[in-house]
Amino acid sequence: MTTLRLVLGDQLNASHPWFRQPEDGCVVVMMEIRSETDYVVHHAQKVLAIFAAMRRFAEALQAAGHRVHYLRIGDPGNRQGFAANLQWLAAHYQATRFERMEADEWRVERLLDEASARLGLPTTVVDAAHFLSERGALAQVFSERVPRLEYFYRDMRRCHGILLDDHQKPVGGRWNFDADNRARWPGEPPAPDWPWTPTDVSALWQEIVAAGVRTLGEPGADALGWPLTRSQARAGLQVFIKQALPHFGRFQDAMSTREPLLFHSGLSFALNTKMLHPREVIDAALEAFEAGAVDIAACEGFVRQILGWREYVRGVYWGRMPDYAQTNALDARRPLPRWYWTGETDMVCLRHAIGQSLRLAYAHHIQRLMITGNFALLAGCDPDAVDAWYLGIYIDAFEWVEMPNTRGMSQYADGGLVASKPYAASASYIKRQSDYCKGCRYAATRRHGPDACPFNALYWDFMLRHEADFAANPRMAMPYRAWQRMDESERDATLTHARYLLEWLDTL
Ligand code: FAD
Repeated sequence: MTTLRLVLGDQLNASHPWFRQPEDGCVVVMMEIRSETDYVVHHAQKVLAIFAAMRRFAEALQAAGHRVHYLRIGDPGNRQGFAANLQWLAAHYQATRFERMEADEWRVERLLDEASARLGLPTTVVDAAHFLSERGALAQVFSERVPRLEYFYRDMRRCHGILLDDHQKPVGGRWNFDADNRARWPGEPPAPDWPWTPTDVSALWQEIVAAGVRTLGEPGADALGWPLTRSQARAGLQVFIKQALPHFGRFQDAMSTREPLLFHSGLSFALNTKMLHPREVIDAALEAFEAGAVDIAACEGFVRQILGWREYVRGVYWGRMPDYAQTNALDARRPLPRWYWTGETDMVCLRHAIGQSLRLAYAHHIQRLMITGNFALLAGCDPDAVDAWYLGIYIDAFEWVEMPNTRGMSQYADGGLVASKPYAASASYIKRQSDYCKGCRYAATRRHGPDACPFNALYWDFMLRHEADFAANPRMAMPYRAWQRMDESERDATLTHARYLLEWLDTL
């Protein structure tokens, strides 16, 4: 009587009830497979970090006495897909049961349903014991009506008793300190160093290359800078809480050519692969607040990302899939400019945000939203292409969290389910929040002409193209009024320039 228990690459949760103690008759199965490396072109560091973390997780389970069958990408017996590998393993172990955790992604859930059906064994699907809300209940709520983040977040605060006073009111007198979190970073205080010491994973990289896996970005396999074990992830959390959290809120929206992380945590990979539990990350921030080491704006701002946004986008995903993947409310059809894969553009902001992403498989939220996402939105790029790019390039990209952020928040393709207005901005926003415009050959203050920052004409063209979609939105009224106040000749020149830019996107 053998039970096969499947653990996926984003289910490295050492506290899962399965791993409390070794169980007779259970074989934990883990596999590195081409169906997972090939459904989109991933950043090399993403493939490396997931496989390296899986291998370390499997070793730790074995050391704790669990029986593990691990299939490496290059193993001759690896059939490179869930169903085929599970069938072989079931025969090999004469399995009588199959157990798996809920997958986070719709695509994987479907693949595993098919695999279970082909196995024909009694199957149990258990909770992955990670999130702060239950998937079924969340999906039910979001399938009926997508709440605004703010109300969802307040409910989560109440439900989990987080940052509430004795009267169940928000600590600090406000639910949200976002308005305090908009400063530009002047270079002071210094941003902390990258939290992780690099690991040499060159041997694994050779296996990945030999298997023929296609990737993008710099592998940096001799110095991979991501946490590969729970203890490394915990160490990164501690560094963040001590050195970055005190400034997190204030500089949350800042961008700099000098610092990739600034005061962000870099913990999304460890969270999404479940090496860290969201509650322990939130608790670490709350402890720092209670000890007086951070103020309420920083603590609340950070808690909102994990207790609010992270759970919220999961609700959007599970409540709205599979239709969500087809949404294209603004009928955007253009391909992404070619330089999204090279960073070779004269626009310093995009060159930097894309270059950093290719180098590190990481960009922080505002770089993703207001630089690469904003440009794709203004240029009218196809959300399928934008989705594929984000899903591939980032170390933390798993569809359940990537898609609502990309299609929803960033591209407005869901028609406003996630974002109450499009995150469209001209160069003045970028200039205000970053040091990108200094030294850029394009002038942030110009709307047209060869030296004008392309964000400006593209912004106005986008706004005018979608006037029928947005003019009735009171949050969009100001820019439309500003447009009306502009000289007619200025308006014409701006829109003519936008037409030129859209024709020549690849050359900018
Ligand atoms: P921090 O700024 O330190 O925030 C702490 C944690 O809060 C993050 O680790 C993350 O777990 C959570 N968080 C913050 N913002 C969000 C958000 N909007 N949605 C969900 N969780 C959030 N996040 C991913 O984890 N995977 C993705 O594939 C992904 N794709 C994105 C695509 C676009 C277009 C945009 C605009 C955002 C995307 N995000 C994604 C959300 C966010 O940008 C990243 O979670 C964050 O940049 C990760 O860096 P960090 O760990 O330093 O985050």
